[in-house]
Amino acid sequence: MNTDNANLQFYPSEQISSAILSWFDQHGRKNLPWQFERSAYRVWLSEVMLQQTQVATVIPYFERFTERFPKVEDLAAADIDEVLHLWTGLGYYARARNLHKCAQRVCEQYQGKFPAEVDALADLPGIGRSTAGAILSISQNRYAPILDGNVKRFLARLHCIPGWPGTTRVQKQLWQLAEHYTPETRCADYTQAVMDLGAIVCTRRNPLCDQCPLEPFCAAKRTASQHDFPAPKPKKERPVRSVKLYILQNKQGEIFLEQRPATGIWGGLWSLPEKERLQQLFPHEQPEDYLLHGKLTHQFSHFTLQAEIYQNTLTDINLLQDGQSCWYNPNQPDEIGLPGPIHKLLHSDQFLNQLF
Ligand code: SF4
Repeated sequence: MNTDNANLQFYPSEQISSAILSWFDQHGRKNLPWQFERSAYRVWLSEVMLQQTQVATVIPYFERFTERFPKVEDLAAADIDEVLHLWTGLGYYARARNLHKCAQRVCEQYQGKFPAEVDALADLPGIGRSTAGAILSISQNRYAPILDGNVKRFLARLHCIPGWPGTTRVQKQLWQLAEHYTPETRCADYTQAVMDLGAIVCTRRNPLCDQCPLEPFCAAKRTASQHDFPAPKPKKERPVRSVKLYILQNKQGEIFLEQRPATGIWGGLWSLPEKERLQQLFPHEQPEDYLLHGKLTHQFSHFTLQAEIYQNTLTDINLLQDGQSCWYNPNQPDEIGLPGPIHKLLHSDQFLNQLF
């Protein structure tokens, strides 16, 4: 092992990268939809969808998006509502809003061509340093290291790096390792290989060390401490936010929805009004008299949402003329973006059966 860094000890880069690439040649994934026609646009789209989301979930979304928006110009020109609609169910909606903004920036600032430098890419909405590296290495086969969750995990284990990777100190160490081990050749394959290695072999719960090309080098395997690395995020009690949501149904069985503000939870999506909003919109309504329809719990990254859902049928109610409210027919849904839990609620058999 090379010890020329005060804090880290490195294996020779060639030794690690060839072990990973040989494993990839035999076991890596080579038929994912974004591995064909590796344009920067398609790689970027897949990488944004894959942030926090598994490959199997992403594939149908990727296919729908590329069919509807074959080029970045198509996505940039689309209405944000349509983008959010196609994103419905994939979660973390800030990604979809950034996706749309990023497509517009690429068209306005770079004439529809993604920039070819990590710093310029990482300056675009929703693209961090690791995603920028993935775009460049996969689409152009250029040296551009990545450090996504999968890579952090196997590097932290390979070297028994203590501490949570969210801290600056640990991030810095992991980037040093990622830069050191990324080869100058076969850059696209290596990027796919490290993502696959973390997803298939060095998994979070049950790492398959006996199938791992890094097993002869791995400090965590040697010390039987695979589960100690990487250290988890220090736990904070997740606060609970309680809200009341109202299903207002007109005589045709349509549901009143309003578009949420662009920022904040479910930003830009169409949802049921909360109590205060209901009273602002329809001062004559008496929400206390509404029937409890059910309860809903949803985990956000920083808090738990607990919602009580009330329901009532209204006889004389008009939409506001601000364009930010609509009647939604779950049997013939408009193409607008709904938060996953609200979509699930309004399209459940139990709910549909009781509509007129
Ligand atoms: S030997 Fe085990 S813990 Fe180490 S990198 Fe491989 S799978 Fe992960």
